[in-house]
Amino acid sequence: MNSEPRQAINSIVIVGGGSAGWLCAGLIASEHIDDEHRNVSVTLIESPDVKTIGVGEGTWPTMRTTLKKIGIRETDFLSRCSASFKQGTKFVAWLNGDDAESYYHPFTAPAGYTDINLVPYWQKHRDAITFANAVSVQGYVCDRNLAPKQRETPDYAYVVNYGYHLDAGKFAELLHEHCTTQLGVRHVVDHVTSVNGDPDSDIRSMSTAKHGDIEGDLFVDCTGFASLLLGKHFKVPYVDKRDILFNDSALAIQLPYANEADPIASQTISTARSAGWIWDIGLTSRRGIGYTWSSEYSTDEEAHDTLRQYIGATSSAAMDSIEPRKISFRPGHRSRFWHRNCVAVGMASGFLEPLEASALVMVELAGKMISEELPANREVMDVVARRYNDLFRYRWDRIIDFLKLHYVLSKRTDSDFWVDNRRDESIPESLRELLALWQYKAPEHRDLAQVDEVFSAASYQYVLYGMGFETHARDSARQSRDATKAQKLFEENSDLASRLVANLPDNRKLLGTT
Ligand SMILES: Cc1cc2nc3c(=O)[nH]c(=O)nc-3n(C[C@H](O)[C@H](O)[C@H](O)COP(=O)(O)OP(=O)(O)OC[C@H]3O[C@@H](n4cnc5c(N)ncnc54)[C@H](O)[C@@H]3O)c2cc1C
Repeated sequence: MNSEPRQAINSIVIVGGGSAGWLCAGLIASEHIDDEHRNVSVTLIESPDVKTIGVGEGTWPTMRTTLKKIGIRETDFLSRCSASFKQGTKFVAWLNGDDAESYYHPFTAPAGYTDINLVPYWQKHRDAITFANAVSVQGYVCDRNLAPKQRETPDYAYVVNYGYHLDAGKFAELLHEHCTTQLGVRHVVDHVTSVNGDPDSDIRSMSTAKHGDIEGDLFVDCTGFASLLLGKHFKVPYVDKRDILFNDSALAIQLPYANEADPIASQTISTARSAGWIWDIGLTSRRGIGYTWSSEYSTDEEAHDTLRQYIGATSSAAMDSIEPRKISFRPGHRSRFWHRNCVAVGMASGFLEPLEASALVMVELAGKMISEELPANREVMDVVARRYNDLFRYRWDRIIDFLKLHYVLSKRTDSDFWVDNRRDESIPESLRELLALWQYKAPEHRDLAQVDEVFSAASYQYVLYGMGFETHARDSARQSRDATKAQKLFEENSDLASRLVANLPDNRKLLGTT
C-alpha cells in the first residue's frame, strides 16, 4: 500500500443558489457540522446576474425528512414559504380527454401494502369503486380539501402521508438564511467567470468577478440549465430523451385566489390537453399554474390559448393581464453526473417535464448520498462517483419509464401527440416488458430491482388501475386463502375514510390563513 498522505476531501464548493444548491448545502452542512474529526466546510457561490428558475412548487413526502434533517421547524417552513400540504396528484382528462374523468395518485400506500396485494380482490369490484378509493383514504380527504393532519399533530408527523406545495423563491430564501446562520455555510454572491483546471483533470478553483479564485476539493454544480461545470467545462454529453417524453416547453403563471377564503386544494391537479398537460398548484397565498407541451405538436400561440382557456374556466383573473413566462427545456440528463471532483445536482444534471414532480426529490436523494458518502479522500472519490453514477442512471431510467406510463395508458385520440405517444418506438423496452408482465399479475415489490425505488410498485398500481389497465390474473390458492383478509382491509379503509372526513380540519383553516 502507498503510504503517501491522501488528499482529504474537506472543502465543498457549491455553485448555484437555487433550490438544488441550497438543499445540497443544507444536507451536507447538517451532516458534518458536528464532526470534529473532519473539518468540512461548505461554500455556496451564487451569481447576482443569473436568476433562479423560480418554479418547482410540488414536493414529495421525502421533503419532510429533508427539512427535519436540515433543522428547519415545519411551522416556520409553512409560513415563510406560503406552503400548503400536497397529498398526491389528481389526473384529469388523461384517459379519454373528458374533463369529468379523473383519478388519484395519492402518497399513501395501498392498505396492507407490505403484506397483501389488493389488486386482484379490487378487480372483482372495479365497476363499483375506483382503485384509489378502495385501498386508500386520501382521495376522500382531497375531494373535500382537508388537511392531512390535526392542529395538534407534531411537526412533520401526519395522519395521512403528505409532501408540500411551496413558493420556490421563498424556499431558497429560507434555506439561504438557515444555512448561513445555523449551519455555517459561507455564501458568496458573485458570478463565476471561469472554471479552472484542465478538462482532463480535476477542477482546482472557480474564478469569480469580485472574490478572486475560490478553491475546493469537491465542486457541486447546481448552476441549473447552464451546467457550467459538468456540461460546459467537462463536456459530459447530454442524453436527449425527447423521443420518449415529447414535452419541451412550459408556460408558467402565478394567480391570486378569487376570494381569500377559497379552498386550498390538497393535491396537484394535472389536466391533460391536446399537446401536453396543465399543472394547478394551490399555495396559501396564490395558485401556481402552467402548461407544459411539446413544441413539435403545438405552436406557442396554441399553447397560450390552451392555458388561457383553462384559467378562464377555473379563475376570475382578468385575461388581458395574464402574461405567462415561457421556459424551454431539453428533456434528458447527462450521461454521467459525478465526473472527477465535480458532481452535478438539479437541473445541471438533467430535467424532464414536471409530471409527478420528480426533480426536487432527485435533488434530495443526491444531496443525501453526497453528504452521507462524502469521500474521505481523493483516492476513494472515483469509487463513490462510479457507484453514484450507476445508481442515478438507474433512477433517471425508472423515472422516464414511470412518466411515460401515463401517456402509454391513455386512450386519447384527439391529437397526434397522444397517438404518437403510444407508438412502440417511443416506449422504452424496460417499460414494455413491465406492461407485458402486468397483464398477467399486478405490480409488486420484486418487479422493481431496488429496495428504495423512486416510484414504488404502489405508484404503478395507482396509475395503472386509475387509467383502466386490466390484469388478467388467474385466481390462486393464496388469493382464496387471503380473501377474508382483503375484504377486512377494504372495510377498514372505508371506515377510516368516513372518520377522517368527519374529523380532519379544512386545509386553509389549518394553514391559518382565514
Ligand atoms: C416548468 C417547470 C416546472 C417545475 N415543477 C417542478 C415541481 O413541481 N416539482 C419539482 O420537484 N421540480 C419542478 N421543477 C424543477 C425545479 O424547478 C428544479 O429542479 C429546482 O428548482 C432546482 O433548480 P436548480 O437549483 O437546479 O436551478 P436554478 O433554480 O436555475 O438555479 C441555478 C443557480 O445557478 C446560478 N448560476 C448560474 N450560472 C452561474 C455562474 N456563472 N456563476 C454563479 N452562479 C451561477 C444562478 O444564479 C442560480 O442561483 C420544475 C421545473 C420547470 C422548468
